[in-house]
Amino acid sequence: MVYTRTQEQIEGIREAAQLVARTLEELGRAVRAGVTTAELDALAETFIRDHGGRPAFKGYRGFPASICPSVDDEVVHGIPGPRVLRDGEIVGIDVGVEKGGWYGDAARTFGVGEIGAEAARLLKVSSEALDQGVAQARAGNRVGDISHAVQAHVEAHGFTVVRALVGHGIGREMHEEPAVPNFGPPGRGPRLMAGQVLAIEPMVNVGGAEVITKSDGWTVATKDGRLSAHFEHTVAVGLDSAEVLSAWPARQESKR
Ligand code: MG
Repeated sequence: MVYTRTQEQIEGIREAAQLVARTLEELGRAVRAGVTTAELDALAETFIRDHGGRPAFKGYRGFPASICPSVDDEVVHGIPGPRVLRDGEIVGIDVGVEKGGWYGDAARTFGVGEIGAEAARLLKVSSEALDQGVAQARAGNRVGDISHAVQAHVEAHGFTVVRALVGHGIGREMHEEPAVPNFGPPGRGPRLMAGQVLAIEPMVNVGGAEVITKSDGWTVATKDGRLSAHFEHTVAVGLDSAEVLSAWPARQESKR
């Protein structure tokens, strides 16, 4: 079942998605050499609950934590724990929140301290690929237009998109129809309608597109051990353009 939401319902999803965005902003400030992924998880859970939300990943199919931190060759679904982040690593952090019965889902990949040129280029291209996909989320287009825009941008820069995992509809559940792949030809797939809400989430590898699942049963990593990045937004399909419900909070650097 594919849903379209009223403006009021979209505001509900925006509430949840904005809490996700603010949590990611907090996490971005906390990411540094020496911090453990478990410490980041605790920070996120406290922040989400303090702001009236529920960490949507916790308990989802038995997942034990509130965030999915995925370091370097890890693509997505990493489990927080005693791992200490080190200078030069990259960490993708995926956050889901339920608030008022609505779900929001977003991810960003952060550099830890000074990162190398290849890692920096990966983060830039992956983030741009998300923007390219989001720009296609308008009524009358098809899901494949999003998929193709992501893939084309990634491959034009010599990287690959992960095919084993895809984006999704979101709203009353964290994962709803339709599936939103990050690859495929334009002009194919379900027609997009205004009011649909999608989680668009490119997973981009420096090397090959193949992934494996680690022995913990959750962590997805690149098969060749090379770097991977993940960016995600919760987006409402509009008549003329998309609306990013998980838009990063405006910086307030001028205060203080
Ligand atoms: Mg998602």
